[in-house]
Amino acid sequence: MVDSFVLLRFWGRIEATIMNGKEAFDMDMKMKSLQIEGKEVELLAEYPVRFACMEHLEQELDDYVNDFEAAPDTYAAQAVEGDGVDKRCRECGEPAQIALLKEKGM
Ligand SMILES: [Zn+2]
Repeated sequence: MVDSFVLLRFWGRIEATIMNGKEAFDMDMKMKSLQIEGKEVELLAEYPVRFACMEHLEQELDDYVNDFEAAPDTYAAQAVEGDGVDKRCRECGEPAQIALLKEKGM
């Protein structure tokens, strides 16, 4: 009885979060690994891969730290290979220069 009540409250909160449109979850690409400069790089799955143009790099760095309480590792966007990787700036949608991600073991 108590359990299902807690569960309901939990789901209610998630729904409310989604309805608020707070930073769409689906904007973030979460991947286990990526090819970077021809090497397979393992990623921390709980941190997304984001991209930024030079103009918005500083803002994206701040956002990453705010959202995940961790400074991201950065790579040149062109060094990142992979099918279906959307290399557009998260802020303006222009082609990105920098990839922000969290590497395993860094
Ligand atoms: Zn931008």
